[in-house]
Amino acid sequence: LNASERFADTDLCVKCGLCLPHCPTYAKTLDENESPRGRLALIQGYARGFLEPTPELVRHIDRCLLCRSCEAACPAHVPYGSLVDRFREETGSQGKTRSARLKTAALRRLLGPGRLAGLAGRSAPAARRVRALLKPLGLEELAAGLPERSAAVPKPGVYPAVTATPTGEAALFLGCTARLLDAETAGAALKVLTRLGVAVHIPDGQTCCGALHRHAGDADTARDLMKQNLAAFGAPPGRPLLSFASGCAATLRDYREAAPLPEAEALSREVRDISQFLAERLWPADLQPAPLPARVYVHAPCTLRNVLRADRFPLDLLRRIPGLEAVAMPARFRCCGAAGSYLLEHPGMAKALRDDLLDDVLAAGPNFLATSNPGCALHLRAGLKSRGREDIEVVHPVALLARQIPTVAPQR
Ligand code: SF4
Ligand code: SF4
Repeated sequence: LNASERFADTDLCVKCGLCLPHCPTYAKTLDENESPRGRLALIQGYARGFLEPTPELVRHIDRCLLCRSCEAACPAHVPYGSLVDRFREETGSQGKTRSARLKTAALRRLLGPGRLAGLAGRSAPAARRVRALLKPLGLEELAAGLPERSAAVPKPGVYPAVTATPTGEAALFLGCTARLLDAETAGAALKVLTRLGVAVHIPDGQTCCGALHRHAGDADTARDLMKQNLAAFGAPPGRPLLSFASGCAATLRDYREAAPLPEAEALSREVRDISQFLAERLWPADLQPAPLPARVYVHAPCTLRNVLRADRFPLDLLRRIPGLEAVAMPARFRCCGAAGSYLLEHPGMAKALRDDLLDDVLAAGPNFLATSNPGCALHLRAGLKSRGREDIEVVHPVALLARQIPTVAPQR
């Protein structure tokens, strides 16, 4: 295919501009080159040979968060995310500063095939150890947002339901997030699922979903990671594949577009966000979470909203806790600025977007800030810390719910 054919979907854009009010980078800059419509026009100009892929042009595409708010708003169904991924794959990292290139390369190396397991081992390293791992790589922004609570990562295997009547089975995706960023939620997901009668499969050999590699244009590594996950999960029809990181779930859902393979199609079809799966299940009458008199501000990550379209489920789930007041993030907020490795590459924009959101969080006066994506949690936790508000705990909705549910021994 020539460039014009590879980027033919840019022609779907009718330049209506309905996406503009939904774009965080356009809202901050009011520069059309930093808008979805403008970026599509730049890619179209490159594909047709009218525009050279100069560092300046590449930089405009690079500054996109890939939040996909524009895609959700677009009446012409322009597949914006995959066009940008393809453009980045072709143009490489020429729009990035040297420091951004070094930091993201270090992060991708850390999350690449085989390396993470070797570095972190099978159990979750304490925050102190992860910090020691990240700082020499120049990844201080990530180190600042690590959770203080550490927990054991569930081992690979099959975990039976702990109810007398099993109600189904599901597979749990841990990716790289559980080992490095959120082992508590991995254990929490396992606890709540088995209490609801669901047998949980945690396959050995699973790895990073490949989101960071794919969005940074490193399609070869992203494909290697995808193949490793396809081999690990096998995706039997009817067995939901659950993720507690909305960014990973969105990437797993896109595997079918990344590779036209029957196994990729089968896996993508089964992907669900953990909160959606739990909220939609029938809960036994005797499973009543303990009361928690607290206010929780519920952040809706872009991937949960725009790709999985599942942002109401964390609220539904948290409202099962008596005494808890769940406050939804207002629709005017689009992206917290974390966006995978974006917080490392474009710290100014990442911080400006986070500041807007944190102003609203602080005005709401919550005890907890709940988010369904560990990358967002990291960025938001670092932001609260920099404002001296470590008293507001950043937590996954399922982890908070699991703390209110008593542990029971498996049925024999
Ligand atoms: S909403 Fe869709 S069609 Fe309209 S300008 Fe934006 S990308 Fe193009
Ligand atoms: S993906 Fe997000 S940041 Fe990028 S153009 Fe669309 S709305 Fe703007």
